Amino acid sequence: MYHTLSGFRNTAAALLNAQNKQLKFFADARKYPSLLDAALDATNVPVSVYTNLIQEVHNHIEKMHRYVRLRKKLLGVEELHFYDIYTQLVPNADRKIPFAQAKQTVYEALAPLGEDYRRVLQEGFDHRWIDVYHNEGKRGGAYSAGTPVHPLVLLNYTGTLDSQFVLAHEMGHALHSYYSAKHQNFVDSDYEIFVAEVASTCNEALLMEHLLGKTEDRRERAFLINHFLEQFKSTLFRQTMFAEFELEIGKLVQRGQTLTADALCGLYRQLNQAYFGPDMVVDDEISMEWARIPHFYCNYYVFQYATGYCAAIALSRRILREGAPAVEDYLRFLSGGCSKPPIELLKIAGVDMATPDPVRQALSLFEELLDEMEALTEA
Ligand SMILES: [Zn+2]
Repeated sequence: MYHTLSGFRNTAAALLNAQNKQLKFFADARKYPSLLDAALDATNVPVSVYTNLIQEVHNHIEKMHRYVRLRKKLLGVEELHFYDIYTQLVPNADRKIPFAQAKQTVYEALAPLGEDYRRVLQEGFDHRWIDVYHNEGKRGGAYSAGTPVHPLVLLNYTGTLDSQFVLAHEMGHALHSYYSAKHQNFVDSDYEIFVAEVASTCNEALLMEHLLGKTEDRRERAFLINHFLEQFKSTLFRQTMFAEFELEIGKLVQRGQTLTADALCGLYRQLNQAYFGPDMVVDDEISMEWARIPHFYCNYYVFQYATGYCAAIALSRRILREGAPAVEDYLRFLSGGCSKPPIELLKIAGVDMATPDPVRQALSLFEELLDEMEALTEA
């Protein structure tokens, strides 16, 4: 695939260059100090949130390298390549989970969010908010749409552990929409993308804690923890790497340089080496990956997956630790829609994304999980 993509490397570079030049034109015309400032101002997110994220991940990048080392060891390969990244580390622990059971488990797992939250959740389960299975002509994936009547959720449920997490995830979006629509006027009811993945991921984190709390079985724990570690890898580390790529190419354009295929491939390769560390063989092919990431045309968008993930981890910890007062704050956050800037809304819930703390907390949880995974898989 990357060889084919390489045949179009100059076209892809010209497109990404034009995208950034366009953003530079608007940023200059409106007197923003940088492309990044111009893009983040749309949702009132301070630039420091973006740069803190990259800085903190850099400070702890050794943890990611440790995970790569563990993956290499568990797969038993002499060389670890990028195509080994998606292979299951703990095979065959996945059982079929009927949908009724998945609903029950999610309901139980979200007990820490209180009875009001669970009442709405049950209402969604009982009143056909969800289109569950795949069907002829139905699109793939999963999403939730907030509508004025009630949220609607599309799933393609297959009975895997993953599917169960998707159910918790999408119901997180759905209940965020529900609370915001209930408490805000129509104009302020739709939440910003910066906070959008918080409610969904918080549910996933609570489900994970619930499942881990229920099992002492080594194999099952390893399977669950691996799922969690993978999420950290793809949501926190990888999206931050994308964010850093965007930051760097924006700086080049800011200085009046042109984004050539050579420059883009070189930078992308370098970042992969830095993020995945010495145990990953960085093949030439991966240098082309930038050309297939559509989000690079969304102007500094992807960092929100990483910050949202950290905020969700911090909030789930707070809810489990402090109980009722934390839940009350969390429900006020869910009810806020876009009535305040996203950073302010998250402060209501008890997490301050203007500081590096939430990113640090998430990274320290990653380390704890890594410790347990190493211990569990010691033969
Ligand atoms: Zn989502």
